Amino acid sequence: MTAAASPAARQELLGLPLPKLAAALADALDRPFRARQIYDAIHRRGAGDFGAMTDLPAALRRTLAARFSLDLPTLTERIDSGDGTTKYLLRLADGSSIETVDIPERSRRTLCLSSQAGCALACAFCVTGYWGAGRNLSAAEIVGQVRLLRAIAALPDTFNLVFMGMGEPMLNLPALADALEVLGESLALRRITISTAGVVPGIDELASWARRPNLAVSLHAPDDERRSRLMPVNRTWPLAELVEALARFPLEPRRRITIEYLLLEGFNDSSRDADALVRRLARVPVKFNLIPFNPDPVLPDWMRRPGPERVEVFRARLEARWRRTVT
Ligand code: SF4
Repeated sequence: MTAAASPAARQELLGLPLPKLAAALADALDRPFRARQIYDAIHRRGAGDFGAMTDLPAALRRTLAARFSLDLPTLTERIDSGDGTTKYLLRLADGSSIETVDIPERSRRTLCLSSQAGCALACAFCVTGYWGAGRNLSAAEIVGQVRLLRAIAALPDTFNLVFMGMGEPMLNLPALADALEVLGESLALRRITISTAGVVPGIDELASWARRPNLAVSLHAPDDERRSRLMPVNRTWPLAELVEALARFPLEPRRRITIEYLLLEGFNDSSRDADALVRRLARVPVKFNLIPFNPDPVLPDWMRRPGPERVEVFRARLEARWRRTVT
């Protein structure tokens, strides 16, 4: 009889690419080809527990269930906003909390995933940053967010993933690499975007990957003084260094780096700021995504959301200077 490990002691399998899964399972398997069988059951057929793998001998299924885990995060709360977006608050095995957001748009569906529980980068406009550092998620916890939402959110076959939830993904690249390899079994890499606050070594490491997802960068100000005020990470990797890293980032044909730009009334939303932004990024193939600020009681009072007209004036100026559509 196989002694069952405690839930915390069972090894997570959900985030393991095939070679790592085979290594993890090696001493439990009667035959090596079983690793491929188990991998396909998990990632191609969506098996959520070992009992469902009826092509395996019953004794092996019991051994696997005792020693390994396919557990998903636990849903603790679902918050529907008026615009169709749904935020799922999830609890991990150690009690940490994360969030995953489901964003339906006209012609596509996007899941916004967390890469860390908490975040040490302390961006001034971010509620996660306000609450401070936590820990890196495992690859299984990253993959688990997608699998849970597949189970509860009626997702279409094809959707987009963006790592723009809790945490800075570039500070958790090893887990992200494993998770993307696994998620890549059912989603094209061009549907996946890693969004960074500007961690230059992470951007360079991503640039070295043989197969890369899309890159997005939160810029939020056209000069170092204001960017450092919003994002302390800018003191470590100031704009000139960041823009250099973006300029050397290898892109597939017709691909662009997304520049996320948070609009704060009276702070970074003038026509002069739009002009400065375009000058700053003149050498980089980018597209812009404007995000009007969302106030929250824990965030500073001086941060205000600009009205729709102000946003449109900024957008029009950016489009005129950039000669492209801005979303
Ligand atoms: S890096 Fe992202 S999660 Fe971290 S504090 Fe900044 S905006 Fe928030």
